[in-house]
Amino acid sequence: MTNSQGKPIPVPTLETAPYWEGCRQHQLRIQRCNDCGQYQFFPRLYCSKCFGERVDWVNATGRASVVSFTVVRRPVSPAYANEVPYVVALVRLEEGPQMMTNIIGCAPEEVKIGMIVEVVFDDWTETISIPKFRPAETVP
Ligand SMILES: [Zn+2]
Repeated sequence: MTNSQGKPIPVPTLETAPYWEGCRQHQLRIQRCNDCGQYQFFPRLYCSKCFGERVDWVNATGRASVVSFTVVRRPVSPAYANEVPYVVALVRLEEGPQMMTNIIGCAPEEVKIGMIVEVVFDDWTETISIPKFRPAETVP
């Protein structure tokens, strides 16, 4: 299934349904292990550190720092032709886990490693919103 621009739409699974429901509500949710306290993303049915099964969903602050990024100048498919250049980045959430995302809200050449960013949501459908990050407006 694709959205109106031809981009593949994520399909929630047993592991990821609470995550996508959070995104729908514009809340970035990650998991925290009740046994060892580790935060994790992407979603799993168990803790990736201690393999305990008592993982809960918590709301992340939505703040992160840029770990690595690349500027995409050649669209990967026609669906992205109108968006180049855009930034694909690896960001580290304040809680620790890292996630792949897009940096928006600034020119690609303004993105820097270590830059503080905050989550924003791009509503693709009534049920699927995609988390992206923009330069943070406030200093922590
Ligand atoms: Zn654990």
